[in-house]
Amino acid sequence: MQQIYTYGQYLKDKFGSKVYKVGINISGFTCPNIDGTVAKGGCTFCENDSFSASTNQVQTLKGFHLNLNSTTNPYLDKQLQQLSLQFDAISKRQKQEYGAQKFIVYFQSFTNTYAPFETLKALYEKALSFPDVVGLSIGTRSDSITDETLAYLGELTKKHEIWIEFGIQSVYDATLERINRGHDAANVKEWIIKSKKAGLNVCGHLIFGLPGEDTQMMLETAKQAYEWGIDSVKYHPLYVVKRTALANEFSRGEFTPISEEEYLDVLMQAIKMKPDSVSVQRVTAGINNDSLLAPDWCRDKNRQIKNINKALSPLGLKY
Ligand code: SF4
Repeated sequence: MQQIYTYGQYLKDKFGSKVYKVGINISGFTCPNIDGTVAKGGCTFCENDSFSASTNQVQTLKGFHLNLNSTTNPYLDKQLQQLSLQFDAISKRQKQEYGAQKFIVYFQSFTNTYAPFETLKALYEKALSFPDVVGLSIGTRSDSITDETLAYLGELTKKHEIWIEFGIQSVYDATLERINRGHDAANVKEWIIKSKKAGLNVCGHLIFGLPGEDTQMMLETAKQAYEWGIDSVKYHPLYVVKRTALANEFSRGEFTPISEEEYLDVLMQAIKMKPDSVSVQRVTAGINNDSLLAPDWCRDKNRQIKNINKALSPLGLKY
């Protein structure tokens, strides 16, 4: 059985030992799809408490949010302090539990390029100054990064491992509209291509099971994302959590979640058509607590991975 080419393997090959991602959640960051700049309410599936990093930290600056037009940031020192505290706590745990020696700081929650350039620069540089940090991974939206930030990150890639993660989700504008994404597919394509030109490594997030999509549409999204030049991919099934617009659609019977069989089928096809050089960072997603409404198969990650490996086996692959 051949191991799928994972992001972990990519990093191990490059840095000689396993590199651990340290997920960070900075107070004061938000999303233009939540703050009303692009839209209000966010993507229909987004319930921000469901992010895995600690959201308690975010509450401490309640009422204060940065955006691209912010001219001052009175909380920068507090944010830098938070960054250090979170990095120290998580990396310490990873060292104790797994013997971790190298790290990538992952700016994970909300839109991590949606702040004044000076704030971003200070946070990124602080993160890169921590011991044993080899690089950054920055989760963001393609409509929320400026040319200035991109050029700066392009410079950082000369000395560090810099990744940018874009939510692609779907290449169909009708779907993006239906999930209240707030940007179209052309925008994601444009910024992925620009990011590649700037020398960045790009990870694309794809969601299978979006409302109104069939298998062919999901595969078309994967195909185009590969063509745009992504270096790594995260595949997710769409699941419904409480306190979201999608939960309301679900309870009205207007949305049927993807079944595990359908997901496995589309995932296998997406993996088969993936260029060998594209590493896989994630093959599924879910949440094992009361906030999950459906589908129930997204609750148990171990079971999901077991079934994914069963489906991969005829292809001679394992995850
Ligand atoms: S872009 Fe991300 S943070 Fe913003 S609303 Fe959508 S899922 Fe939530």
